Amino acid sequence: MVKIAKPLRLHDLEDIRRQQPAIVFYSAKTCWWTSDPNDLCCPHGNPMRTCPAGDGDGIPLDPSGSPLFQTDDVEGFLKSAEEAPEHYGRHGLRAFILAYHGNVLSEDGLPRCSSKWEMYNDLLDYEEEAAP
Ligand SMILES: [Zn+2]
Repeated sequence: MVKIAKPLRLHDLEDIRRQQPAIVFYSAKTCWWTSDPNDLCCPHGNPMRTCPAGDGDGIPLDPSGSPLFQTDDVEGFLKSAEEAPEHYGRHGLRAFILAYHGNVLSEDGLPRCSSKWEMYNDLLDYEEEAAP
């Protein structure tokens, strides 16, 4: 089981623009992305610098173990998302933002990701249904 982080680590794309990161990293196989190099994971799904096996010098991965792409065209990355929100399913950009590292957590609080936008949309549906 996974859940939406409270509070969210990233609320909206303007936060990214304010931070002016140099690079965005995004997964080759899942919906995961981040603008923080500290989020990159070892093969065990831990932040690389905290890998208990000392694998922190290997190739950075997403929390599921997928390899990553990266781009230094951060604004282009954000814009392409904003111009095609339907790509992310019925919740549009909210699903894209939910795929940011740390916005979806396991029961024990570890960042998680999915290869399916449907998972993020289902979490948002569930949250809306649970809201009073
Ligand atoms: Zn590790």
